[in-house]
Amino acid sequence: MDLDLEQYRVTPGHDFKLASISPDDTGGIQKSDRSKDAFNATLREIWDLQERLYAEGEQALLLVLQAMDTAGKDSTIRKVASGINPQGCRVYSFKVPSANELARDFLWRVHAQVPRKGHIGIFNRSHYEDVLVVRVKGLAPIEVVDKRYEQINEFEQLLHETGTRVIKIMLHISKEYQRERLLRRLRREDKLWKFNPGDLKERARWDDYMEAYEIMLNRCSTEAAPWYVVPAENRWYRNLVIGGLIRDTLTEMNPELPDLDFDPADYPPESIV
Ligand code: AMP
Ligand code: MG
Repeated sequence: MDLDLEQYRVTPGHDFKLASISPDDTGGIQKSDRSKDAFNATLREIWDLQERLYAEGEQALLLVLQAMDTAGKDSTIRKVASGINPQGCRVYSFKVPSANELARDFLWRVHAQVPRKGHIGIFNRSHYEDVLVVRVKGLAPIEVVDKRYEQINEFEQLLHETGTRVIKIMLHISKEYQRERLLRRLRREDKLWKFNPGDLKERARWDDYMEAYEIMLNRCSTEAAPWYVVPAENRWYRNLVIGGLIRDTLTEMNPELPDLDFDPADYPPESIV
């Protein structure tokens, strides 16, 4: 399956516009048995690569997920993590900071959750909330927010230099699509728990959020930690793209099985009694 993942990467130094990526793009691919097979094959590749990452124990992968409500962060995690051995993976969901967290710098709680060597970490929301919701709602002075982009870049550079690969994914949807998803939540008894009347206030500021996302994408997509804007309205395609990004990143990291400190030849079958 011919997937061009690079088209979704925000290139540093270019003036990126969200409008350049269509939220319902499927890269010219149709949903079919083939696309399903391709996704399952990707999951199997991820499984093998993760085992090597775990065995090697030298590098880590951090996947950051950001999106507006209803864009599918939860289902992305459910789908993509189904190809990852839970033993080497942790998902962390960032909520409104506690008083204890707010008494520290904004990266303090984030740094504490980065994956250990050998692991894959998935952030459901992240330090980027501190330049998104915080910017839009004015929860901190704009001068403070403006400094955070560079502070984030330096933090991620540190992670990169110390063996943690960071890939950041924005699940891209339209305001109309969000409306459909909100209506679905209200229609379905089993999804009502996900409806939060407060989310409508964020929806009302859609354009402000898109502006904050665009600023963030432009200032924080770096060589060390690139941002990808993934069309998320077709979930099967979203899964295929994100699975592909994880597989390609792990492949590039090329984890190696560790050197043995024994000679297997010293252990012929008859020696194991
Ligand atoms: P949910 O992901 O639906 O459980 O909601 C978590 C909420 O926490 C969202 O409304 C986020 O905007 C909010 N949140 C996460 N991080 C921060 C932060 N650093 N500052 C303010 N709100 C945050
Ligand atoms: Mg929510």
